Amino acid sequence: MDDILRLELSELRSLALEALLGVGCSRDQADAIAEAVTRAEGDGAHSHGLFRVPFYARVIRESEAVPDARPVLRELAPGVIQIDGGMGFAPLAHRVGLPELVRRARSQGIAALALRNVFHIGALWHEVEALTSEGLVGLAFTTSISHIPPAGGARPLYGTNPMAFGWPRAKGPPVIFDQASSASARGEILLHQRAGKPLPEGWAVGPDGAPTTDPAEALAGAQLPFGGYKGASIALMVELLAGALIGDLFSFESAERDRAGIEVGPGGEFVIALDPGRCLAERSPADQAAHAERLFQRILDDGEARLPGQRRYEARARSQKEGVEVPRALAEEVRALARGARGA
Ligand code: NDP
Repeated sequence: MDDILRLELSELRSLALEALLGVGCSRDQADAIAEAVTRAEGDGAHSHGLFRVPFYARVIRESEAVPDARPVLRELAPGVIQIDGGMGFAPLAHRVGLPELVRRARSQGIAALALRNVFHIGALWHEVEALTSEGLVGLAFTTSISHIPPAGGARPLYGTNPMAFGWPRAKGPPVIFDQASSASARGEILLHQRAGKPLPEGWAVGPDGAPTTDPAEALAGAQLPFGGYKGASIALMVELLAGALIGDLFSFESAERDRAGIEVGPGGEFVIALDPGRCLAERSPADQAAHAERLFQRILDDGEARLPGQRRYEARARSQKEGVEVPRALAEEVRALARGARGA
């Protein structure tokens, strides 16, 4: 039997939705997660795609996650709103909070969303793209649990702490980068382990502190920040923005809450939205957009260079036309969850 299955995105979404309902998510939570997982798979980000569904099941079973939580929105200031996710998952909290963030950014010029008490297992570009699609510039930051040491240190302290930035464009897709503070996302190491492949050099050290390309050694040891101390400083900033600033946990505190050792804990996310037209006086928004395009054109004129996000948009166009390929074993595992056979 063929090990690979080709699925339409709508089929993949139904598969994920049924599984998430099967493991106890409310319909709202399940629908928001299924959408996030489908978008990730469709954009070629397999480490946040269908592969994560059995992981969500395990998080529900073995952590404090509340699979039927209802996010609650509060105003903290005219330009700052808070969503308390109630220990549910981030995608539903985004659905509740992002439309209000957009409204506030338009009325204030700049606005922020402090997302508390969520389990954030996904990629950040969803929230940033929700802002660029409204013509806003977006930034997002989230912690995870301790996987990377501070600069010069040996023991994991920071999470893989991603940050994302998005710039809207009138023509063509937005320019978005979304990157972990570590040399690789944790999910990439798990996928290499699942596929029995060695890691690229420079991603991790083993428990003995020596560089390793063995996924199991890397998972037991520490992930390295990208760019040495510079990546470590970005991870530090993310801890402060998505932790101390908004009254949520640092990655090491989330790790302490992860009693089952499943490598995810509750935490926060900080999202900033800017209305670009409200950030200038002397030039028109059209001039501003044209100015940005000059920069993008220079990047493309290089010939070898590309804009961040392009790989994802290409994958998206392909998967919308052709569907996606997923390992049959993974699809079966997810289908079993839908039948109520809980497992990770
Ligand atoms: P990558 O290293 O694969 O990519 C990082 C960014 O760089 C992407 O925006 C990518 O765009 C861009 N990029 C890559 N190559 C080039 C290039 N040659 N020229 C221009 N831009 C380029 O991502 P990471 O492994 O760092 O992170 C993967 C995902 O994991 C992210 O979505 C992140 O949010 C998520 N994550 C989530 C965590 C959580 O706890 N929730 C923790 C850590 C990570 P493109 O997509 O077009 O290649």
